[in-house]
Amino acid sequence: MVDIQALRGTRDILPEEVNYWQQVETVAKNIFTRAAYTEIRSPIFEQTALFERGIGEATDVVSKEMYTFRDRGDRSCTLRPEGTAGVVRSFIENGLHSQGIQRLWYAGPMFRYERPQAGRQRQFHQIGLELIGSPSPLADVETIALATDILNTLGLKHLTLHLNSVGNAEDRQRYREALIAYLKPYQNKLDPDSQERLTRNPLRILDSKDEQTQALLKDAPRLIDYLGETSQQHFEAVKAQLTALGIDYIINPNLVRGLDYYTHTAFEIQSEDLGAQATVCGGGRYDGLISQLGGKDTPAMGWAIGMERLILLLKNLKEVPKPRLDFYVVSRGDRAPGQALILAQKLRYQGFRVELDLSNSNFQKQFKRADRHGAIACLTLGDQEVDQGTVNLKWMASQQQSVIEQSQLLADPEKLHQQILEASASA
Ligand code: ATP
Ligand code: MG
Repeated sequence: MVDIQALRGTRDILPEEVNYWQQVETVAKNIFTRAAYTEIRSPIFEQTALFERGIGEATDVVSKEMYTFRDRGDRSCTLRPEGTAGVVRSFIENGLHSQGIQRLWYAGPMFRYERPQAGRQRQFHQIGLELIGSPSPLADVETIALATDILNTLGLKHLTLHLNSVGNAEDRQRYREALIAYLKPYQNKLDPDSQERLTRNPLRILDSKDEQTQALLKDAPRLIDYLGETSQQHFEAVKAQLTALGIDYIINPNLVRGLDYYTHTAFEIQSEDLGAQATVCGGGRYDGLISQLGGKDTPAMGWAIGMERLILLLKNLKEVPKPRLDFYVVSRGDRAPGQALILAQKLRYQGFRVELDLSNSNFQKQFKRADRHGAIACLTLGDQEVDQGTVNLKWMASQQQSVIEQSQLLADPEKLHQQILEASASA
């Protein structure tokens, strides 16, 4: 056992699991590209002040979960705990508002100091998108639809879209007062976290996982009843458009995103199959953030999918096959191994997936590996084949084999691809 191990809350994604990740990434990328979203890659660490100001100092993320350190130049830096703040910083810094509506997506690791458990890590991964520059409720629905497209395309089941509106800043201020007034008499019965939130960030109490707190909230005033007219209209339009697209949802009046800059639509996609870490995707409209970070007042909407939770669901659902291995190339002798590499390269240039045996061990051992690795066909080169410019081609399923000219093998790649396809279908 090596005495240096991966840090708590981090894990390796090993080759046997990586197919799942790549499948999700491919599906997401296709869906984003079809909707004219482009990728943006922002740094993994930023000035601490970006997150303090962007996410809000009273939030759990900023007050308890950030990986913050001083670099050698004594600057306070933080590993990004989420993607939106960095994208917005980049949007402002690079003057992207002058280029019209921005449809952006990102993918990569995020860092939060949390208690690790299934679906909750300290380094975790998100795929997310931001639609910046449109106040339209259609923008909210477009982004939500892309999230459900990704999850549906992957074949996930038992998902529910939870929807709420957190209104605008004024609506929330009125609601905040009503909520505090309602909860004050029960202050001592709240869980400790919620007691602390009562003055600092009362809306977050709605999100409490504590049973007694949730029971107290049953008769609490609802944010949804405090929406002004514009907020109500926005919410109605979102709901109507979701229905028109055939996207089911439930209204969840307790769904809040604890951050001050969120406005109007808030949503989560939750799974019944994930236990406590039920939320696969979360997002909302954040019309206040860009001006709060010093940019021109710009409306925006975004979400993020938690990759680890998505992969847990996907693994329970189906096996994602490894990519097919077309040829396994076996060789033995003085010159044959070098020639085998040349032949493998030529086949790779023609688009085949080719694995080369590097062992120069006896042919039996190499054939066994060809079998174990699931190759469709095995190519064998000894020094005699090298002298004659030939190669032995063996189809693994039928065990049929023949010696052919190497030039003939390479002459008609289209036909060879077809043969591989047929052989793999019958395997
Ligand atoms: P939770 O309530 O589960 O802590 P959150 O509200 O903190 O989630 P967001 O900041 O909205 O999460 O992030 C969006 C998504 O990223 C979450 O819905 C979840 O799928 C995923 N996520 C967040 N934190 C973690 C983590 N520590 N480990 C794994 N995935 C995470
Ligand atoms: Mg969290």
